[in-house]
Amino acid sequence: MLLTITTSTFPATDLGFLLHKNPARAQSFDLSFGKAHVFYPEAAEQRCTAALLLEIDPIGLVRGKPGSGEGHSLDQYVNDRPYVASSFLSVAIAQIFGSALAGRSKERPELASKPLKLEATLSVIPCRGGEAFLRSLFEPLGYRVSVEPHSLDPTFPEWGDSVYFTLHLQGTRMLQELLSHLYVLVPVLDNSKHYWVGEDEVEKLLRHGEGWLAGHPEKDAIARRYLKHRRDLCRDALSRLVDDDLEELESTRENQARQEAGLEEKIRLHDHRMGAVVAVLREVGAKSVMDLGCGEGRLLRDLLADKTFERVLGMDVSHRALEFASDKLKLERMPDIQKARLQLIQGSLTYRDKRLEGFDAAALIEVVEHLDPGRLDAFERVLFEHAKPRFVVLTTPNSDYNVKFETLPAGQFRHKDHRFEWSRVDFRAWAERVASRAGYQVRILPVGPEDAVVGAPTQMAVFSR
Ligand code: SAH
Repeated sequence: MLLTITTSTFPATDLGFLLHKNPARAQSFDLSFGKAHVFYPEAAEQRCTAALLLEIDPIGLVRGKPGSGEGHSLDQYVNDRPYVASSFLSVAIAQIFGSALAGRSKERPELASKPLKLEATLSVIPCRGGEAFLRSLFEPLGYRVSVEPHSLDPTFPEWGDSVYFTLHLQGTRMLQELLSHLYVLVPVLDNSKHYWVGEDEVEKLLRHGEGWLAGHPEKDAIARRYLKHRRDLCRDALSRLVDDDLEELESTRENQARQEAGLEEKIRLHDHRMGAVVAVLREVGAKSVMDLGCGEGRLLRDLLADKTFERVLGMDVSHRALEFASDKLKLERMPDIQKARLQLIQGSLTYRDKRLEGFDAAALIEVVEHLDPGRLDAFERVLFEHAKPRFVVLTTPNSDYNVKFETLPAGQFRHKDHRFEWSRVDFRAWAERVASRAGYQVRILPVGPEDAVVGAPTQMAVFSR
């Protein structure tokens, strides 16, 4: 079984730093199911190819395993496992290219988040769903796909095609993305997994599917096949993906945003919020700031306008929102010095993400109420325990104030996608609990015109450590 990965982004030999494998050396690794070899058939600055060759020992696989003494079925000895891409390849990717799969490069950290011109070839992949299924898995991820079917036996063409294909992918992606796609989709294509599928497979699927699986049109089939048709696990995985799945929301989000904006317009609440957040970020002296759930990038624009913010990162789970942001900020035409200060990334606040580490401050403007209550705990850990910026500025609606919006029926939220809205008491209790658990101090401040009884329309918490 052979996988080759080629880049033609100059200097192509950087691939060696990303894979943590020296292009000048061939290396071999012992794995539980056989041997893996890594070598570079070509390594020039224009074009560099890394090859991962797996030698699977089908007899070693069954020897000594419970049940292997019984029956001696022939397919233990004669099977396709040594020749095709299967879940063994995923295991090999995780073990041999683990840092690259996690999006890290020890020697050249900036490389890991750089999109490269990549090509991948899988010499043989079984796919019972045929070419159409193969394409439906990889094309939505932005690859140019070419597929070569193999006949069952070239000497007997009348027998027709086999279930085996050679697959070639081409696209401009981060290496980490390509490896994650292969890690999840190769076992899906093979539709049989060599090891027992348990709860931790759900975690693996969600971890390696992060940022792309939730929006994939075939996500149901992918989860079902990846989890070997275990219905309970599949339901769990899909319900946890929904949280990231903004497809439905996307079609209506502009409408809803207008509805919320209309409601809040009279008091120009959005301007109040941006002003208040920028003022806090200046006051605490933050130089690097991330705007998490940046939406269309209104805060990013204000941050870029102020040179004290040297490094600005915008993250959102929604591709559409990021496209809007990049349009509105005129990213294409932005001068290089300005562009160098800004990074826009797709990601979800409910999964740990290394890219969020090392910032002075994080802003989350009207985002927390979009998270599923069941995922708040994960979000708290991602932000306050892993990303751990020195300051967090977070705003959310004050539900006590909703009675002041004449057109909002009692008990309804300001926006259809809000999963909850906190009263002042609820918000304070949440903020204080999170702060004390994670070792932060917290202040709560009103934003917008304050009413003597119901308070201000927006509430803001400033966490510091
Ligand atoms: N902060 C922006 C947008 C607020 S709307 C502003 O004030 O204008 C909420 C945003 O949170 C949306 O863009 C939505 O896509 C994003 N979002 C929702 N769930 C998210 C998650 N799990 N991770 C990251 N962003 C998320």
